[in-house]
Amino acid sequence: MTLITCCYFGFAQPGKKKIDPLKTAIIQSVERQQPELIKLSNEIWAYAETALRENKSSKALADYAEAQGFSVKRGVSNMPSAFIAEYGSGKPIIGILGEYDALPGISQKASPVKEPLEPGAAGHGCGHNLFGVGSMGAAVAIKELIQQGKLKGTIRFYGTPAEESVGGKIYMARDGVFNDLDVCLDWHPDDEIEASTQSSQAMVDFIVEFKGKAAHAAADPWNGRSAVDGLELFTHGVNMLREHVKPSVRMHYAIKSGGDVPNVVPEYAKVWMWVRDSKRTGVEEVFARVKDIAKGAGLMAGVEVTVTVQTGDYELLVNKTGAEAMQKNLELIGPIIYTEEEISFAKKIQEVSGVAQTGLDGAIHPVKATKEDAEGGSTDVGDVSWLVPEITLLVTTAPVKAPWHSWAVVACGGMSIGHKGLVFASRGLAMTMADLFQNETLRKQVRDEFEKGKGNTVYKTYIPDGPPPVPAK
Ligand SMILES: [Zn+2]
Repeated sequence: MTLITCCYFGFAQPGKKKIDPLKTAIIQSVERQQPELIKLSNEIWAYAETALRENKSSKALADYAEAQGFSVKRGVSNMPSAFIAEYGSGKPIIGILGEYDALPGISQKASPVKEPLEPGAAGHGCGHNLFGVGSMGAAVAIKELIQQGKLKGTIRFYGTPAEESVGGKIYMARDGVFNDLDVCLDWHPDDEIEASTQSSQAMVDFIVEFKGKAAHAAADPWNGRSAVDGLELFTHGVNMLREHVKPSVRMHYAIKSGGDVPNVVPEYAKVWMWVRDSKRTGVEEVFARVKDIAKGAGLMAGVEVTVTVQTGDYELLVNKTGAEAMQKNLELIGPIIYTEEEISFAKKIQEVSGVAQTGLDGAIHPVKATKEDAEGGSTDVGDVSWLVPEITLLVTTAPVKAPWHSWAVVACGGMSIGHKGLVFASRGLAMTMADLFQNETLRKQVRDEFEKGKGNTVYKTYIPDGPPPVPAK
């Protein structure tokens, strides 16, 4: 019998918990890596690179993997910041996803009040600095066990850029890089800990452009055809459609171009729009109607219309069998224990954000029933989950009800609250992967649930043909 102890977690119940020697080895590996993982996370937090510009962040992670003995392939799927790090050989092949893109405009110090590190710069408001490093820590722990001959098979870490924009995983999925996996795992920073059994929203991201004919707005407006008229008729139609879609549908847009000056009939207008629903099939139905509205708006205004799909996510196909296997490991690790300082830091953030000052939730929540409709939000992990079985872990890295995609999450991701989440994730993921490597029956049960959920759905990506839109330097 081995007991595990650590100042971070609440699992030290002498005499109560027996732990498999492999899992002890995982805990020790993560503990050994901890200073390096925290350093890496802080580095990526400070780089705060946005979608498809994460060159320093991905390099830091890929270099770490290489130094640990992984073979690393960089620039995967024509994205300089995408990479795959692999160790071992043969089956099973277990994959783990890592993200590292930041969000524009939310730079923040590791401080509980709103205080930009660099005004206007990007920040890790979704905690992806922790996500990439936490997954890497788990991959390295497994690699060590394969190296020692204690596990057989292949561990593969996927460095997946641009989750917050075009969805790097979708380009990688199009290239088939996930297809030979037995199972894939990921985690996400959150305000509670659970083996996730909730889906995410499917969505389509597209541009609608209107091309008319310029004219003097006072001298000869009858010779002009206004692109902005087309755009206004379109958004009006979309807003009328709202009453006739299911409550699970979300439609949002931003007007990117709406004419330059009042005294010219505008010849060009552009709107960027997303349609979301709980399932891809629901998105398809609404999107078809939105395309008709665009056509009608063009006819009414006498202008040309084009609809260009940029990207889109599938909803996440939940794997409850996988979540239940993961849950056992989370319970073994035990809740995250926070210091007085961390609790006051969290409460200060809650005070400033106007939410209840309840502090942090480090408890292990039980596996929940899957809701019919996912809460708001989409992820490109959804696409991976229709190709191979996917198991998702959520770990506390921010105060309860802290506003997400905001300064509050950036602040916690740059200090010990975030770091504790990262270390917890490394352990939980690696322990679950060890089970999957060792237990063929579990792998089969996870696969059976996946096949049943997928049914005869044929995966078809929303992204257009051609390379990903990597920005010029
Ligand atoms: Zn995220």
